[in-house]
Amino acid sequence: MLPNFDYVAPASVQDAVKQLSSGEARVHGGGTDLLSCLHDEVFTATKVVSLSRISALKGIKAAGGGVRIGAMTPIADVAQDSTIRSKYPGLAQAASVVASPQLRNQGTIGGNICQRPWCWYFRGGFYCVRKGGPQCYAENGDNRYHAIFTKEGLCYIVHPSDTAPALMALQAQLSITGPGGTRTVPIENFFVGPGTDPTKETILKQGEVVTEIVLPAPAPGMRSSYRKIRERRSWDFALAGVALALQIKDGKVAGGRVVLSGVAPIPWRSKEVESAIIGKALGAGRIAEAAESSRRRHRRTERLDVGDGTIAQAAAAAVQGAEPLKHNAYKVALVRGMVEEALQAIA
Ligand SMILES: Cc1cc2nc3c(=O)[nH]c(=O)nc-3n(C[C@H](O)[C@H](O)[C@H](O)COP(=O)(O)OP(=O)(O)OC[C@H]3O[C@@H](n4cnc5c(N)ncnc54)[C@H](O)[C@@H]3O)c2cc1C
Repeated sequence: MLPNFDYVAPASVQDAVKQLSSGEARVHGGGTDLLSCLHDEVFTATKVVSLSRISALKGIKAAGGGVRIGAMTPIADVAQDSTIRSKYPGLAQAASVVASPQLRNQGTIGGNICQRPWCWYFRGGFYCVRKGGPQCYAENGDNRYHAIFTKEGLCYIVHPSDTAPALMALQAQLSITGPGGTRTVPIENFFVGPGTDPTKETILKQGEVVTEIVLPAPAPGMRSSYRKIRERRSWDFALAGVALALQIKDGKVAGGRVVLSGVAPIPWRSKEVESAIIGKALGAGRIAEAAESSRRRHRRTERLDVGDGTIAQAAAAAVQGAEPLKHNAYKVALVRGMVEEALQAIA
């Protein structure tokens, strides 16, 4: 049963911030995660502040070559928007594989990046380190879905969002409004690892609300994608995922970002993969060459070695530093294969 709480739905961000600044108040986006947490007593609230009446927080608008996405925009709208699909296909792909159609219609993009972890110890009745308790029960428990990048220790959740890694790869900025005014933060600096504070996933302070996500204009030659592997083909969280946003120039990777999901307590930027591919061809030569392969088979083989060598090295780099737990070593091979497939597809 849901506990009792006051429910308010202010009509402006300023009023929402005022309402959130006192007592144990919580932001309600679409409520798909918040209400489960309250129902299951993961945490408590004396007041729930819905952002649903603030029309300024809804919609996707063009802005200086990029786009601004209101935090209350449904995930389904992000998946279907024609500008997002053409300019930022990686984000559209990520949004389209979040949960189920019902959850994508009710859940918001702001709520998706701020959702709490779905670790079964945290969501269950365990007083774990993320709730301020003495230990992480996943460390020596059933950790089959937990992190493999664990250097910070303490807590082994995986960050659950599919859109956050795509937004990080695309170098999104977040607008955050709170009692102290509005600040803009690169999404890369938004998430908090357990080494900093195991009870928080983001830098948000009491009373702060994410109001907008700002995507810069895509750099020339930018290609983006999101690939997700889940245990079953219907809705499910990522066992592992990879967001790519790569700038391809003259057949080579000129720059970009690679961010993994489902493997670490925060969306995991893989600088190791980025270093393995930047400045190199990703098999573009292979595709061009395939057409004339029957004529000049030896040259095709030579070019294949170049492209596939880079991709194989990048896939190996993706799992550098991974320290799987007792039950999730399978994720190492999974990440390796997934990064290889994603790079091949983008090439
Ligand atoms: C069965 C199931 C399967 C799922 N599968 C996936 C999946 O495959 N991939 C995936 O990415 N997600 C998945 N999810 C999570 C789902 O996508 C989230 O529940 C949803 O995105 C949350 O959005 P919301 O607007 O409903 O957030 P809410 O439930 O309203 O809020 C979530 C949290 O964020 C905070 N919050 C919300 N909006 C803001 C804001 N603007 N500023 C500051 N804080 C805010 C709330 O206080 C709360 O703590 C799944 C959920 C379920 C129940």
